[in-house]
Amino acid sequence: MGNDTVNIDSERVFATLKRLIEIKSVSGNEEEIAAFIKNFLNGLGLSPVIVSKADNRPNIICTIGESGPLIGLMGHMDTVDVLDEDHWTQDPFTPWEDERFIYGRGAFDMKCGLAAMMCIAELLAKSPNLNCRLMLMFVCDEEKSAEFGTKTIIQRIEKGMIEKPDFVINGEESHGHIRNAERGMCKLKVSFFGKSSHTSQARRHGVNAIVNASRGVLELEKDIDHFHECVGRPLLSVNSISTENETNKVPAECSTIIDARIVPGMSDSDLIALVMQRLDPLKKKYKDSNVPFNYTIDVLKYTRPTLTPLDHPLVAKFSSVVESITGSRPACFVKDCGCTDNRLLRKADIPCIVFGPEGYADHGPDERVDKRSVMLMTQAYLDFILDF
Ligand SMILES: [Zn+2]
Repeated sequence: MGNDTVNIDSERVFATLKRLIEIKSVSGNEEEIAAFIKNFLNGLGLSPVIVSKADNRPNIICTIGESGPLIGLMGHMDTVDVLDEDHWTQDPFTPWEDERFIYGRGAFDMKCGLAAMMCIAELLAKSPNLNCRLMLMFVCDEEKSAEFGTKTIIQRIEKGMIEKPDFVINGEESHGHIRNAERGMCKLKVSFFGKSSHTSQARRHGVNAIVNASRGVLELEKDIDHFHECVGRPLLSVNSISTENETNKVPAECSTIIDARIVPGMSDSDLIALVMQRLDPLKKKYKDSNVPFNYTIDVLKYTRPTLTPLDHPLVAKFSSVVESITGSRPACFVKDCGCTDNRLLRKADIPCIVFGPEGYADHGPDERVDKRSVMLMTQAYLDFILDF
């Protein structure tokens, strides 16, 4: 279709967003919003398809265009619940706005993305003369397990029931940056040892495992000197410490649970190596003390970090599209971000990025999205599709 500029009516996008906020869709209750979106797409003469693992947990897939690479736009229809209504200025399900923001549950996370996708469908349904195919993916269950949402869609893709997209853009928050990677998660149990005795013989016969745990925790709770250009620092936090001990005995064992976020290029064994590097010197240091240092490590859970390279042709192309709108190359690093369903797509070998709005208080009171950033997202999606 070349480089024709298509004007997007911002009022139309904002009105669609506000309508979506009015439809309460707390995770597990996505039927009404899915029916609304499906109706909307049907009304445009498109053929949305419901994909679901359970009847009351719908996902919608809708393809526009005849041939060319298959480009996914993905957004989740569910939101978190409102458990803090007293802290909201107004009713979370009656959207309101000021000069800069639209407010309401899901405004930022992420009904603005759904509104962008719907308005793009509206613009392209009339002239589907595209050099790529657009696959709109409205999913449920993102805020919980993704079991009924993205995981279900990926299972169908892997069974060949749904065509695998060549690239997916997810409209979660990114403040206008391109998030091309996500940190992985690793939970370790690190146990420290001593020797049990009656309290009356503590330090004479007993060796207190808590002393060793304290020494270990102080070493572990230090920053990791490493920075990944796309996701920032790996992190390690000792989040639990316990003994299964009667309080009249010196504990022989004290266990800690470490929750770590690791960056692309790191694996669980790298994390274990890092923990050992910090703890092993303590063995030597306390070798001849009356509390010799001893520990073991077990991996409880591990999800690997994922990354779609910045020089992937479609990431580079998307980046140029954003640059031509804003005048500057978008950054990739977004501070303190949680993970998105993109980790699941990458595991299924689907290259993907997040490109989404700026906003505040997702999951909190007076959740709000910056209107200009919603228009940037919508324009970038549209230009990317039209630019093929
Ligand atoms: Zn979200």
